[in-house]
Parts: sequence; structure tokens; C-alpha cells
Amino acid sequence: MQSAVPRPPTAANLTGRNPQLLWAPRAWLGGDAAAHWAEGVCLEVDASGHWKAITPGVHTPPAHATVLAGPALPGMVDAHSHAFQRAFAGLAERRASDADDFWSWRDRMYGVALRTTPAQLRAIATQLYLELLQGGYTQVCEFHYLHHQPDGTHHPDPATMAWALADAAQDAGMGLTLLPVLYERAGFAQPSLRVDQRRFATTPGFVADLQRSVQRSGRALLHAGVAIHSLRATSSQSIAALRAEVGDTDLPIHIHVAEQIQEVRECLVAHGQRPIAWLAAQGLLDARWQLVHATHTEPTEIDAVARSGAGIVICPSTEANLGDGLADMPGWLQALVPMAIGSDSQVCRQWAEELRWLEYGQRLQLQRRNVAAAPAQGQSATAARLFDAAIRGGGPAAGFARWGLRVGARADVVVLNDHAPGLLGVPASHTLDALVFGCDTPVVRDVFVAGQAVIREGQHAKQAPVAAQFVAAMDALWHGAVLE
Ligand code: ZN
Repeated sequence: MQSAVPRPPTAANLTGRNPQLLWAPRAWLGGDAAAHWAEGVCLEVDASGHWKAITPGVHTPPAHATVLAGPALPGMVDAHSHAFQRAFAGLAERRASDADDFWSWRDRMYGVALRTTPAQLRAIATQLYLELLQGGYTQVCEFHYLHHQPDGTHHPDPATMAWALADAAQDAGMGLTLLPVLYERAGFAQPSLRVDQRRFATTPGFVADLQRSVQRSGRALLHAGVAIHSLRATSSQSIAALRAEVGDTDLPIHIHVAEQIQEVRECLVAHGQRPIAWLAAQGLLDARWQLVHATHTEPTEIDAVARSGAGIVICPSTEANLGDGLADMPGWLQALVPMAIGSDSQVCRQWAEELRWLEYGQRLQLQRRNVAAAPAQGQSATAARLFDAAIRGGGPAAGFARWGLRVGARADVVVLNDHAPGLLGVPASHTLDALVFGCDTPVVRDVFVAGQAVIREGQHAKQAPVAAQFVAAMDALWHGAVLE
């Protein structure tokens, strides 16, 4: 097989580019049919950076095609990210007192949030987005609540921190769905935020205005939706007001829903129902809603979400790191609820490991193997079922009607290095199985976003300067800080 390095981007913006043709020796094609490996696939990109035509069975690459150097997968959506927490990864893994849980972790994380400047956020996020691209993600949903100046007053441009994230995504060449967060109180019974949450305070009007100004910017690869921090952090009236601001538009609406048992108990006291049950009973849920950390649920809540068309977002590495608990993955899969994955606190930046831990948590809990597989439905491959679920769930979570290797979707593709140790000698039919369960070294070779190569042979063109800026930001952020 001929190998070739993907050609460099032809233009910085996405309009007016020449259409181009990629050819993959094999590609994971889904669409309306069951996903499968197809041999000899021509992938034609239109001038707007979307797939114009996808044609399998072309066993000799056309003369003018860019030949991809390995198996091709659709890009993955990282459906839940707090970019600034990349500066905290690995720095909260010590326990100095008897108790350490989600809430004590959160108090320490706020210390980072209070110090981060716009320039530091941009440096941290750019490093993160490079790593996410190298981990096979091509779109990230930022659940963005770090808005204001350290004293809590608005920046002269209230969207300053949002632009820092948008600039980071643009520098990295990654798609971004920015989700400004409604965040107004410290708990169900609290009238306002804590002092150390002062940078997060928003109203429905602020969130809607920020969403609109991001969308109006017209930047390439930049989209916006809205988010509600959680039921504990927002009043019913404000949720209704934000819902009214969104109206009938098709914006994604994300919410942290049931990450901790404690918030489920408090919701029962405040609203008389568990969080998902309450959202469903209010008639709020529809296909735009994304329930992040749908961890603590009753079967009736899963049924209600399935009826509504809403999706869920699971963040396996973070939920493990924070001791949140395990979602009812078999229940969600059986109910055919769209299920995306997220990197959340950034302790892991590659989707293959997220899917591995999603399955391993269930195996450890249930003392069974291949929990996600569904042989009765002809889906005996665990990795393929999880991967397809995350691809199908990721598109709507990021606000896309079409996602993946499908005509009309953005032309994102991830090319695997089939010379990586974990893939060596693996039959083509088992590439995804080995990728998720048998690889512990990087396997992503090249990544294209909107038809443009952003990762080549595992490297990003700006990798060295971005890393240097990240290190400088970390030095400034942690200089003099007391690490437990
Ligand atoms: Zn979160």
C-alpha cells in the first residue's frame, strides 16, 4: 500500500477552499446502517469542509487523492469539558485528612478557578485541545462557568474568558461548542453563591447574551449552546427563564444532573423528586437536552429520558477519579438513549481510555465480561457498540444534526497508526476491540477537522510553543501556592 503524509492545510479559514479527496484503505462507516469496516473508501470534502460523497469499494486510490496512512474513524465529540481544570490534573491525588470526596476536591479546584487569568486560560485550553485532538476528539463542548474577574466583577467585555477558549480552539484547529452556564446559588437552600464561586455568577439573560454573541461572531468551527449548572445551583424560575430565551431554537441544553447521591437527596427534599424525574415531570426534556453525569438513577428515570429523546453524557475517568459512582450503563444502552462521553476534569484526554473505563467499571461491579455487548441484537463487539453509541450521542450533544463519516457531516476523520504495538498483527475486523482494550500507547496518527490536517504523524504543528506557554501558565498559576 502506498503511504503518504496528508497535505498541509490550504487556507486558514474554511470558505473558498478547494474541495479535496481523501482515500482510506478502510474506514468505519455508519450512517443509518449498522457501522462496519468498509474497504477502499473515497471521502470527498466540499468547499465548506463537509463530506460531499463517501464511496466504499474503491480499491485503487484515485490519482489526485490524499492517501490516508491507516484505518479511518470518525472524529469523536468530547461532550463535557472544563478546560481550566487541565491545570489541576494530577495535583489532587493526595489525602491529608480522614475524608476526601467530590466536595473536598471541588473546594480545592475552586482555588485554581479563582486565580486563572484569561491569558492563562487560553494557554491551558490550547494545550488541552491539542491533547484532545491527539486523543481522537475533533469537537469539544465547553461547560463554561469561569466568566468574571477574580473579584467577581465583570470583565470590560463580559465574554473575555469565552473568547480565550474560542481562541484556544482556533489555535488548535479543533471544533468548539461553547456552553455558557447558568449558575446562581450554592445549593438548593442557598439564596446565592459562595464567596469562592464569585467568578461563576450568571443570570438567564447573561447566558443567552453570551450564547448569541459567540454564535454571531461567525468564527469557523465555533458553535454555542447553553448550560444549567445543576438543579442545586439554579432556581426553577431561572431555568424557565433560560428555557424561554432558547425558545424553539435547536440549541443544545446541557445540565449536570445526578453526579452525587447528596444532590439527589437534596433534590428530593427541595422538589419532592429526584433530579431526572423532576426535569421529566416539568415537561422540560427533549432531544436538545444533555444530562451530564446521569450517574444515580432509577429505572423509571431512564424510561422517562428515553421517551423524551434527551441524551446523556458519561465521563468515566472523572467519575472514577472523583468517586462519583457508576452509571447504569446497561440500562441506558438498552433504552437506546443517546450516550456521549466527556473528558470533564481532564485526568484523561483520549476517548479510547474513557470507553475502556466505561466498560471496566461495569465488569468490576457486575463480575461479568463484555457488559456493553448485545449479541441478541447482533452486536457482540463491546468496543464497537460503545464507540457507535458515543459517536451517535456526540453529534447532538455538540449541536450537530449530522456527525461522523456521513454525507453532510463536517469532514472530520481520525487515522490510526496500525503499526502501534497494540494494533500490530490484529485482524482488521478487531481493530476497534484492540484499540479500546489492548492499547496503552498512542494510536492516533493523523487527524483532520473540516477537511484540514491538524495532527500529522501524532504531532501538532504548534506543539512546542503551545507546551511552552502551558508550562509558563502552570508556573505562574502554581507559584507560591500550597499543594497538599
Ligand atoms: Zn462538569
